[in-house]
Amino acid sequence: MSRAAKRPAAFLDRDGVLIFDSGYPHAPEHLRLMPGAAQAVRRLNEAGYVTVIVTNQSGVARGMFSEETMHGFNHMLIERLAEEGGRIDAVYACPFHEEAVEARYRHPDHPDRKPNPGMLLRAIAEHGLDSSLSLMIGDKGSDMEAARRAGVVGHRFTEGDDLDQFVAGLLTG
Ligand SMILES: [Mg+2]
Repeated sequence: MSRAAKRPAAFLDRDGVLIFDSGYPHAPEHLRLMPGAAQAVRRLNEAGYVTVIVTNQSGVARGMFSEETMHGFNHMLIERLAEEGGRIDAVYACPFHEEAVEARYRHPDHPDRKPNPGMLLRAIAEHGLDSSLSLMIGDKGSDMEAARRAGVVGHRFTEGDDLDQFVAGLLTG
């Protein structure tokens, strides 16, 4: 590890936080930004947080859409946020599920699948992040649990609220 100070991360759940959770969103028409989403990401950028999406995507395992489609959808989301000034630095997505139709996505308890902390722990290692300064925003108990197990403070967001107001509240403490 370099001597540079480790940076704080903002771990962001995707469905129900950055976008509305329409149920396995994966097509362009499913991309509905949460109110204040791009502004929230920009606020985190400006406050020095590395912004990392961490998202369970069992729709891949369930055969509802391909991993390629998932990556394409994530890319589209990143572009939409960027158009409004919000920069996403990294994306971690977990396609695995215990009841996967395809064997390669079948896992009884994949370390990446929230509430397991695998995606957060990998991001922390790969990007030189300081977990103790980091935060996680999610809409489910599994997000809070994954955060806790990664040594990150979790904040529960309610879908439909203004994400920028929520983040502003967190940053001013
Ligand atoms: Mg969610």
